[in-house]
Amino acid sequence: MNIPHKQLFDFLDKEFPLMYQEEYDNSGRQIAFDESNITGILIAMDVAPQIIDEAIEKKCNCIITHHPMFFRSLKNITISSVHGLMTIRLIQSTISVYAVHTNLDALCWDILAKTIRLNDIKMLFPDKRFNGIGFGAIGYIPDEILLSQFIEQLQHELRTMAIIHYGNLEKKIKTIAAFNGSGSKKISAIIQSYPVDCIVTGDVGYHDAVYANNHDVAVIDIGHYNSEKPLIHFLHSKLYNYLTNAMHCNDVRLIISEKEQNPMHCGVQNGK
Ligand SMILES: [Zn+2]
Repeated sequence: MNIPHKQLFDFLDKEFPLMYQEEYDNSGRQIAFDESNITGILIAMDVAPQIIDEAIEKKCNCIITHHPMFFRSLKNITISSVHGLMTIRLIQSTISVYAVHTNLDALCWDILAKTIRLNDIKMLFPDKRFNGIGFGAIGYIPDEILLSQFIEQLQHELRTMAIIHYGNLEKKIKTIAAFNGSGSKKISAIIQSYPVDCIVTGDVGYHDAVYANNHDVAVIDIGHYNSEKPLIHFLHSKLYNYLTNAMHCNDVRLIISEKEQNPMHCGVQNGK
């Protein structure tokens, strides 16, 4: 069975209402060929040249990303910028792009807390406009452990060594805040509102981390990408259920990008 882009995008608009997004955001349709049928869907964090290559290679004429491709106002589309070139290539290849950004964050406020296995999870900052949605979570680990042990657990759970930490490794921690994406600017608000031992987030700035340490709060920067990767898997399962169970559309490819990787790395070993 065929499904036109419009039908899929309407489904996404319904599941992830655009009114839930932040004021500065630009989720939803980025490039839309509404009437053409979907051959395959590629899910990625961002649109990038290698993602467009992958979509063409894997015959996917629809890319769904977390971060919007068009964020600031578009002044021109020229081949002298990477962004302009990507836009031209996408349109020439009739590939649609749809982003699910802060509307997804708001609905999945607890996804990072669940990924790092916190218990008794509660929302940090409810969205004042709507019930039941918001940003960031606070929860507990079952037993008080050392910060060093918790970091080792995260390395195992997230399968990465790309973790930056601020604070005494001997510090005992139990109450943890988890905020996906760029949580650095929220660090002071979290500390002022909640008695936390440790904050797990991405894109941590030096001054925000020092502020936290001065308040005896440890900070773990797992990187923007790793903090949001669970959202990509969530999107995949939502789309899989929709395509196979609701639409019986088994012939549409649904792929999480294999070319996209965490761009943040820590250290080099044997040249790698
Ligand atoms: Zn993000």
